[in-house]
Amino acid sequence: MFEPGVMFWAERDDLEMVRSLGVRYGQLGIPGGMRLTGAVAAAWKTALASAGITLVTVFAAYEGEDYADIPAVARTVGFIPPDTRAGRLSRTLAVSDFAAELGVDSIACHVGFVPEDAEHPDYAAVRQMVRQVCDHAARHGQSFALETGQEPAQVLLEFVRDVDRANLRINFDPANLILYGTGEPRAALATLAPLVISVHCKDGDWPAAGVAGALGMERPLGKGSVGIARFVEMLRKVGFRGPLNVERETEDRQERIRDLTEGVRLLRALTGA
Ligand code: MG
Repeated sequence: MFEPGVMFWAERDDLEMVRSLGVRYGQLGIPGGMRLTGAVAAAWKTALASAGITLVTVFAAYEGEDYADIPAVARTVGFIPPDTRAGRLSRTLAVSDFAAELGVDSIACHVGFVPEDAEHPDYAAVRQMVRQVCDHAARHGQSFALETGQEPAQVLLEFVRDVDRANLRINFDPANLILYGTGEPRAALATLAPLVISVHCKDGDWPAAGVAGALGMERPLGKGSVGIARFVEMLRKVGFRGPLNVERETEDRQERIRDLTEGVRLLRALTGA
């Protein structure tokens, strides 16, 4: 399983595109507005089986999220905005149910910026939501993975310990640590390795110095500051054996397909898979 996979999105990417990459594993992102009925799950299950794609994770995203810059992320993403907490909790539980219908044993999302101060009211609220998602997911035999990068690895580690649920894990995205300026990816991997259940292979450059609130720039895999060869080597060294899911966030379809294809090729070269 230490071989390329792909992070792809329902309603944006089609399975034919995923299949054309020649991968056997993937992670499926579910847009916040997508209807999740039994019929939709059944159709996905059939289509995935015929495409020969095994999902390792189903990702939840939420309506109204904005990743334009750090203040927008802080205001809109994940479990942090108080007004959308109840709706996003029930949506996450619905994504867990949907993943269970597909036979997938891990769900994930961005919970947003976890406050560094455990006394902050958002901290206790987010911790409670994460516990509720974990407990629901556990009933399906699923793990619930938090994406890295919106806070330093040590803050995330302490939060995970404080949530105190055995099925709470990490989806490690090395580029996010750079894009959000929260830490050097391999040092973060060393901190979080025992919790890492899945990974994104994404690349990017650090935010411009002196521009408050700016995010760094995402790049095609191998073209940014992650140092993907050393990252893959370190994943191997810490004992990670799952698929290496290429992620590319650009909206331009041709660019996405080209960069995902090149990313898969690069990871094949690095893993010998
Ligand atoms: Mg990611």
